[in-house]
Amino acid sequence: MEEAVRTEKTAKKKAVAEIRPDQCTGCGICVSVCPAACIDIIYTGLNFNGTARVSRELCISCNFCAIDCPWGAIAMVNPDGSEKLLDMHGKQVKKMRGYA
Ligand code: SF4
Ligand code: SF4
Repeated sequence: MEEAVRTEKTAKKKAVAEIRPDQCTGCGICVSVCPAACIDIIYTGLNFNGTARVSRELCISCNFCAIDCPWGAIAMVNPDGSEKLLDMHGKQVKKMRGYA
């Protein structure tokens, strides 16, 4: 029971990466930085360079892609649909990369 509650709490906190296709240039930087290898580039008739796609189930919520995307095309979205703020991305990324 306690384990179930803890899992639920963890799940509530977890934000996953979401691509904004209209801002994505298909540059592939997010694919390179994702430690979970859960982003790929898909090609459609509308964008010859491709558009990033995230596997939400595999995303570990590290924020690397959202921070490193030069076009601001990735949002970290909480389970309730709200977006994680950019300054929160920065703090988490610095910690994970050992700067803080
Ligand atoms: S880094 Fe940004 S612009 Fe480049 S492929 Fe990823 S989401 Fe698209
Ligand atoms: S938040 Fe991290 S794990 Fe999730 S898609 Fe972005 S780089 Fe990959």
